Amino acid sequence: MNERAVRLLDFPITPVVQRTVDRAWLTYKMSGGFVRSFHQPFTYMTMRERLDSYLAQRAVSAGAEVMDGSRVVRVEAGNGPVRVSVAGETVEGRVLVGADGVNSVVAHQTGLLRGAEVGVGLESEVYAAPGILEPWKDTAGLDFGTIRGGYMWVFPKEEHLSIGVAGFARWGPRMRGLLDAYLGFLGLDGAERRLTRGHRLARRKKGMAIQSGPVLLVGDAAGLMDFWTGEGIYYAVKSAQAAAPAIAAYLEGATTDFTGYEETIDADLMPELRIARTLTRIGVWFPKLTYTLMKRSDWVWTAGCQVLRAEKTYHDVRGRMGPLTFLFDLAGRGT
Ligand SMILES: Cc1cc2nc3c(=O)[nH]c(=O)nc-3n(C[C@H](O)[C@H](O)[C@H](O)COP(=O)(O)OP(=O)(O)OC[C@H]3O[C@@H](n4cnc5c(N)ncnc54)[C@H](O)[C@@H]3O)c2cc1C
Repeated sequence: MNERAVRLLDFPITPVVQRTVDRAWLTYKMSGGFVRSFHQPFTYMTMRERLDSYLAQRAVSAGAEVMDGSRVVRVEAGNGPVRVSVAGETVEGRVLVGADGVNSVVAHQTGLLRGAEVGVGLESEVYAAPGILEPWKDTAGLDFGTIRGGYMWVFPKEEHLSIGVAGFARWGPRMRGLLDAYLGFLGLDGAERRLTRGHRLARRKKGMAIQSGPVLLVGDAAGLMDFWTGEGIYYAVKSAQAAAPAIAAYLEGATTDFTGYEETIDADLMPELRIARTLTRIGVWFPKLTYTLMKRSDWVWTAGCQVLRAEKTYHDVRGRMGPLTFLFDLAGRGT
């Protein structure tokens, strides 16, 4: 979870943080390599189950009722109350928030987020001797160029390394081989692997509906995914924070739908996500550029860390490109 996501919360996540990262080891096509550090942490490593259960506890303390393990299988939304079939019963409400991730049943059954751009990821938990884990304790590994428009990573956890690969959907069939090759490059091909899991990533494109009547989507369900970094928690929290006042206004009768919410997402989040998508496209065209700039340019490295820390936005960085801004925008056309 990057610092910029942490900053959105009004409570600490320290109880579930396993590692604090302020360094990265960057490689290009699984060769070379250099280490860069920042004077402050830019990301925090957690185990998702622990983070999710911690957040659920916070929600319960704030008055939410959690029906853990209950799968929503059907959604009916028309002019009256919204009906959801869950755990063999039908639950009714005035508003339905689809926060059900990338394979959102809510989006699917209400016809929202149709035609999102799809990416894929594959990640393993890799267990190794403490001596191998130790050098990674404050360092993330990032490999560029092997996957054009994507990357491979090593994220250090307390007892293992999360090692993965992500990119456009067309890379799907090659992901397992690439993950094996990366593990080999890292000297971990004999290490114990657990929980190798594939994931979908979905990105909203301009104009795709994320609300209709009493239903709205947040986070991955709304396709609010940074395709450049693969980061989604920041945008999930941001969209939830935009949804909250919109829901309050709706329940008070001040509004009759969530078009205002969609407009807020369009104005506040989509321009950032679009810049991230442009960076991905540039990564496809010039696979060595990110690596070279991170290596040679203090400004680029610092700006990247500052974006992850919410000290700058992508928009700020784009604004400092001078005459290159024109070319950058040209590269992003149609994204
Ligand atoms: C391999 C990988 C690594 C990633 N690493 C990072 C990272 O380091 N930092 C980062 O910011 N982002 C990362 N992301 C992205 C991040 O995981 C998501 O963007 C983020 O979790 C989105 O939050 P969400 O709440 O919208 O969805 P989710 O976290 O997916 O939560 C959706 C919830 O809905 C539940 N659900 C789904 N369907 C139903 C149903 N039918 N009924 C009831 N419940 C349902 C699920 O069980 C889940 O609890 C990564 C993604 C992948 C694939």
